[in-house]
Amino acid sequence: MSKKRPPGHVKAQKEVKEREGYMCLRCGGVYKDAHGHHLLYYSEGGPANYHTMATKCPECHRKYHAKKANIDIIRF
Ligand SMILES: [Zn+2]
Ligand SMILES: [Zn+2]
Repeated sequence: MSKKRPPGHVKAQKEVKEREGYMCLRCGGVYKDAHGHHLLYYSEGGPANYHTMATKCPECHRKYHAKKANIDIIRF
């Protein structure tokens, strides 16, 4: 497990969280360790920049992907 994210990705994650004040889109909670969630999947060719990302708290993020991963992967 030594997969490194490209620097642009890390920067985008930080930008989107700062833009939204680390507030989770789903529950409205503010978390210092919020995640940057991709509206367009990176693997589907979505660029990593703050226009295509949203802030989610770790809990909502985990739930989102646990629930959606198998059914919504093409659209999201
Ligand atoms: Zn949340
Ligand atoms: Zn996500």
